[in-house]
Amino acid sequence: MFDEHIRAFRTCQTCPSLCQSVCPVFINDGIKTHSPQGLMQLFNLVRKNKLDFNESIATEPYHCTGCRACTELCEHNIDVGSVMQSARNEAYRQELAPKEINSFVERFHRHNNPFSRDLVKKLKNMLPKRYFNPNNSIVYFPSCSTVAKCPEIIKDTFSLFDKFQIDFVSLFADPIHCCGYPLLSCGAAYDFVDLAEINYHALKNYKTIITGCPVCAHVLKNIYAKYDFNLSRQVVTVNQFLKPYFQDMNYKIKKKVRSKVIFHDPCYLARYMDEYELPREMISRVSGYEAQEFHDNRKNCGCCGQGAAYPIVERERANQITKNRLEECYEKKAKLLISQCPICLYKMREQSNKLVIKDVISYLNDCIEETSSS
Ligand code: SF4
Ligand code: SF4
Repeated sequence: MFDEHIRAFRTCQTCPSLCQSVCPVFINDGIKTHSPQGLMQLFNLVRKNKLDFNESIATEPYHCTGCRACTELCEHNIDVGSVMQSARNEAYRQELAPKEINSFVERFHRHNNPFSRDLVKKLKNMLPKRYFNPNNSIVYFPSCSTVAKCPEIIKDTFSLFDKFQIDFVSLFADPIHCCGYPLLSCGAAYDFVDLAEINYHALKNYKTIITGCPVCAHVLKNIYAKYDFNLSRQVVTVNQFLKPYFQDMNYKIKKKVRSKVIFHDPCYLARYMDEYELPREMISRVSGYEAQEFHDNRKNCGCCGQGAAYPIVERERANQITKNRLEECYEKKAKLLISQCPICLYKMREQSNKLVIKDVISYLNDCIEETSSS
């Protein structure tokens, strides 16, 4: 078991464990086993058959948000998150996963999304029929978290498209709006592959697939390809899609725009999709101001604590990490936090009543009045 990670285990074993200083889980709970090195040591013992892979041990890989903060800091580029993903796959496969995970997967299957609700109806009521034109070759994949928890992002995206005279993008109205990331994070690898296959066939004929959710962007673009469901060429983030419109179009900025903003890099937009400057450039272009920065930003950005399946098994601790992340906003007297991941956004909103928290696209839409061709 875990032999494909031998190099990683050996490297971590002899390391001074500097990466524990950036691990959101370890910083918050202080439990040595939950540090990147602690997790690696544990599963190295399992690999060597010195420790039983029992129910108690099988809970441990869920103590990783997959944020990649450790990998970014690691001189050897060790991907602890991937090793923990393998361990979660094994835990689920051997029916040793925590009971919260099994109930979550069961709930997921009711409507193929983690909210266990029919999201199509909600989506179809959100925008007029003209946004669902099945003949367009470019499609916007809305993401289940966005539909369920931050639906204003979808409305704001299409409002911004209208302002840029983009009338050739359809909203993807298939019954499934989840890329499968929650299943994958739980370790339900076979269930994930089934869902990926369905999504692949529903999406493969589109020329371009735009998504405003960085988790969906990473999963559709990078993970599906590993299972031969290759959508890599077609998938773009909404920022990448809009970039030329910001350069080539004339648009009017509203007079009063909020300047005291702070930008939070979501782990998936930053470390997984490698998109650091584009959202910042867009924000400063429409507001005329640079967004404030967290002390840990860009490649070293702090995690909101809600990644992978960690909040399923450790809800309170995950929420505490989110609260800790928000402290810096209060210290810096920011009034508006801008980010670009529906999970970060809705979890941060749940944990703060002092801040206005918005998606990049909503902010751009707020600031831009109208456009005309140059
Ligand atoms: S991930 Fe890198 S820095 Fe962290 S313990 Fe392993 S080898 Fe050391
Ligand atoms: S990926 Fe993030 S949460 Fe997981 S061990 Fe590394 S720093 Fe900790």
